[in-house]
Amino acid sequence: ESLMGQIAAASVDYRDAEERWDRAGFEWSGRVEAALQQTFNLQTFRPLQRAAINAVMAGEDVVVIMSTGSGKSLCYQLPAVASGGFALIVSPLLSLVEDQLHQLKKLGVYAAALNQATEKEEAKTIDTAILDAKSPLKLLYVTPEKLAKSKRLMNKLEKAADTGRLKLMAVDEVHCCSQWGHDFRPDYKFLNVLKRQFKGVPLMGLTATATGNVLDDVKKMLGIEASIVFRAGFNRPNLHYAVEEKPKGDMGERIAEIIKERYPTQSGIVYCLSRKDCEVVAQNLRKLGIRASFYHAYLEPADKTSVHEKWLGGKIQVIVATVAFGMGIDKPDVRFVIHHSIPKSVENYYQESGRAGRDGKPAACILMYRLADVFRQSTIVCTEQTGKEKLYEMVAFAANDSTCRRETLAGLFAEDWEQGWCQNACDVCARSSSSSSTAEEIDLTEEAKLAAKIIEEARSGSGSSGSEAAAGRLTGLKLVETMGKKNKRSRDFLEAVVTQMLLAEMLMEDFHFTPYSIVSYVVKGPAYDRWAKGGSAFKRRIRVSAPVSKTTSRKRKTVDSDED
Ligand code: ADP
Ligand code: MG
Ligand code: ZN
Repeated sequence: ESLMGQIAAASVDYRDAEERWDRAGFEWSGRVEAALQQTFNLQTFRPLQRAAINAVMAGEDVVVIMSTGSGKSLCYQLPAVASGGFALIVSPLLSLVEDQLHQLKKLGVYAAALNQATEKEEAKTIDTAILDAKSPLKLLYVTPEKLAKSKRLMNKLEKAADTGRLKLMAVDEVHCCSQWGHDFRPDYKFLNVLKRQFKGVPLMGLTATATGNVLDDVKKMLGIEASIVFRAGFNRPNLHYAVEEKPKGDMGERIAEIIKERYPTQSGIVYCLSRKDCEVVAQNLRKLGIRASFYHAYLEPADKTSVHEKWLGGKIQVIVATVAFGMGIDKPDVRFVIHHSIPKSVENYYQESGRAGRDGKPAACILMYRLADVFRQSTIVCTEQTGKEKLYEMVAFAANDSTCRRETLAGLFAEDWEQGWCQNACDVCARSSSSSSTAEEIDLTEEAKLAAKIIEEARSGSGSSGSEAAAGRLTGLKLVETMGKKNKRSRDFLEAVVTQMLLAEMLMEDFHFTPYSIVSYVVKGPAYDRWAKGGSAFKRRIRVSAPVSKTTSRKRKTVDSDED
C-alpha cells in the first residue's frame, strides 16, 4: 500500500503543483463548475484538468502533459468559455481543429479557425470579432503558418491583448516546437513571439509526450521558462511491460499464441510497421481463429469507422494497425497492446503501449523484438532530423534485458525512480525475482572481431561473391548470416551481438538512397578501431532466448541453446 503511494509520488514537483492548484475556492470556481456542467455537459473533472484550468485562469503560464485521449482540450476550452474574452489556439493539424469546431458548435460555443482553408467571407467576420467586445467568439484556432505569414492578424491580436480581450493562448502538440520532439515543425519556431508580443496573456502548452529534453526546449522556445508543469502520472502501475524475442519470420503466429493463452476474449491492439504487415498479420490471426481486422491510413474513411466501431462494440477482438490508429481511441478496457515490430522512438512506444489499461485494470504491453525490424524502421526514420538517435534509444530499451523496463522509461523521460517501484510488473523484474534466466555479462570479443573481419573482407572483395559483396557492402542481416557460417553460434545470439555492436557504435548503418528505396548497409563504426586498439574485452549483458532447460552452469553453452 505505502509502496503504491510512493509510486504515485514518483514526480514530486508535478504533484506539488497539482496539490496547490487542484481545488475549489478561487474567485472563478463557481463559473468554472458551471461551465463544466452547463456548457460542456460533463459531471467531473479528470485528473489535472481543474489544476491546469485554475493555474491559467490565475494568469500563470502552464505546460500540460497528459496522454492522448485524456482530455487536454478542455484545459483551454473551458477557460476560454469562462473568462469573458477569447482564446487563441495554435494547433498544427487541421483535421483535429475541424473535430473541435464541430464539437464546440454542438455545445453552442462560438469557435472559428483561420488557416489556408478559411473562406474570405468568414475570414472577414473573424477579423471583426477579434476586436469587437460584443462578439461571442470564444476560441480562435490558427496554424503556426498562418500566424507567421499574417502581420495584419498579429497586429489585430496585439490590440486584442492590449484591450484585454485576448485572455489566453494555447499551443497544442507543443512538442512540435522542439528539435528533439518526434514531429518537429519549423513553423513552430515563430511562436517565440507570442509571449513577447502579447504581453501579460498567459500561455498554455499541451502535449502527450515530452521527455526531459523536449520539455526544457519547449519552455525556452516559447519563453515560458517559469511555467507550471502539470504532468499526468507517468508511471502506469497497472501496465505490465515485456519484450519478447520475435521468432524469425513471424507474421502473427506467436501473437496468436499469446492471445489465445492469456487473452482469449479480451480486446487488444497489435501495432505493425506497414500497411502490408497489418493485412498479413490480421489474416494470419483470423486463420488461427482470432477475430481480428486491420486498420491503416489507406482504408476508406467509412471502413475505418466501421472497423473502429466493431472493435469498440466487441464484435472484433483485435485491431491490427499501423500508428495511423491512435487519434481519438478512447476504449478503456484494452487488455493488451502488442508491437509486432519496433516503434520509431521511446515516446511513440510509451504513447502507443499506453493505450492499454485506461480503466486502471491490469493490462499488458508486449514488444516483439527482432534485429531485422531495426533495419526496416531505420530506413524509414533516417531522413528525420533525430530519427536514428530516437530509434536507437528504442533499440537500447528492447535489447536491455537487465534493467527494469520502467526504470529505463523513467530515465528517458527524466522522471524520478526508485528501486522496487515496479513491483515485478515487467519482464526483467519478474525474471530476476524468480531468478530464472537473468541476463548475464557475456564476452563478445570474438564475435565482434569476426564481424569486423567479414566487413573488411567484403570491402576488399576477398569475401564471398554476389553483387552486394562485390560492391563491398553488406546488409546487417547478411553480416549475421555470414557470421553464422564461420561460427557455431545461434542466429539469435549473433543478432544480439550485432545489436550490441550497433548500440556501441562499433558498427554503424550506412544508408544508400536509390530512386525507389533506401537501403541500410553496415560498416565499422567510429568506436571499433578505438576498442580494437585498446585491447579490452567487449562484454555485454544479454539474455539469449529462454534456455530449453536450466541445466548446469553459466557457461556459454547454455547461452546458445536453441537453434543451429
Ligand atoms: P487529448 O487532447 O488529451 O487527446 P481530448 O481533449 O481530445 O484529449 O479529449 C478526449 C475525450 O475525452 C473527448 O471525447 C472529451 O470529450 C473527453 N473528456 C474530456 N474531459 C472529460 C471529462 N472531464 N469527463 C468526461 N469526458 C471528458
Ligand atoms: Mg488533443
Ligand atoms: Zn520492472
